[in-house]
Amino acid sequence: MTESPSRVAIVTGAGRGIGAAVARRLASDGFAVALADLDEAAVKAGADAITADGGRAMGVGVDVGDADSVNAAVATVADELGPPTVLVNNAGITRDNMLFKMSESDWDSVMTVHLRGSFLMSRAAQQHMTQQQWGRIINLSSTSALGNRGQANYATAKAGLQGFTKTLAIELGKFGVTANAIAPGFIETDMTAATAERVGVPFEDFKKAAAAEIPVRRVGRPADIAGVVSFLVSEDASFVSGQVIYVAGGPRA
Ligand code: NAP
Repeated sequence: MTESPSRVAIVTGAGRGIGAAVARRLASDGFAVALADLDEAAVKAGADAITADGGRAMGVGVDVGDADSVNAAVATVADELGPPTVLVNNAGITRDNMLFKMSESDWDSVMTVHLRGSFLMSRAAQQHMTQQQWGRIINLSSTSALGNRGQANYATAKAGLQGFTKTLAIELGKFGVTANAIAPGFIETDMTAATAERVGVPFEDFKKAAAAEIPVRRVGRPADIAGVVSFLVSEDASFVSGQVIYVAGGPRA
């Protein structure tokens, strides 16, 4: 490769939480960032805030489970910012329930967003990465991949993403593309706030109880994940591929 690769990143689910923090971090690392989310208004506001801080960003509406929507969003990003060479598959939902109460739609929606969504986004983005002979794909797994009560659907999807990541690493390595997964433990976001609400515990108490079980004695923040993404997309990480990095304040939170 003679020319420098395009420094354009797409972060899905960037409307809030971990995705929003990752988008801000990649912008401050010098990437032009496309914030992609179902909530187009949220990502447009997030992109405006990054631009106001001197970065380059755009917001794009996408439903990651829908192939037409994904292909259109990736094409728009390529037209407006340049070929995307970094993809962070972060969009996610939970539909928690014990197995005996879990509906087909609880199962299917979680599979669609996490697994089909990461597949569709990666398939659409890889053509730009392989053309550039450089790329980085980061998939958001979870400590729930190791098994978690009430999350048969989510745990399965997050474990599936680990196999997906390793396979992308094998297929795309010869094009200069690495693929890695980050498996967060408890991170303070709307997602964990919703879990607290579902189990009927005030969020502050829920966080305190979680922190007591975590070796570093605190819950995670979105910036903890953004820092690891920043490393994985850097040149320093060019020999790291197909790995699952648990970011959980301990070996398993
Ligand atoms: P969050 O606050 O709930 O944010 C998730 C974002 O994904 C939302 O902006 C949501 O958009 C978007 N999204 C959902 N479905 C989508 C779709 N079909 N297409 C496009 N965007 C979609 O979640 P978070 O806590 O930041 O989590 C981010 C990722 O980390 C997820 O993959 C999650 O599973 C994973 N994770 C989180 C934790 C944690 O403790 N928080 C731990 C382990 C792993 P709307 O607002 O429009 O719904």
